[in-house]
Amino acid sequence: MPQPMPLAQQFICKKCKSLSNVQTYERTREGTYFCVCQHCAAKNQVVRTGATPSQPGLLPVTGLIQ
Ligand SMILES: [Zn+2]
Repeated sequence: MPQPMPLAQQFICKKCKSLSNVQTYERTREGTYFCVCQHCAAKNQVVRTGATPSQPGLLPVTGLIQ
């Protein structure tokens, strides 16, 4: 079966290692961007590339936010 094309930006969750879609970018008070995992709700700190969430791509995750 062919793999479906990613419709949005995605990232690999650092906690549960699942592929998750970026819903929205959220920002901490310190100005760090993170995306919430769809599976375990972990806050994954991501590198914002400047692309909007609808532009397909895989985001590098740099860490977890407690
Ligand atoms: Zn997760």
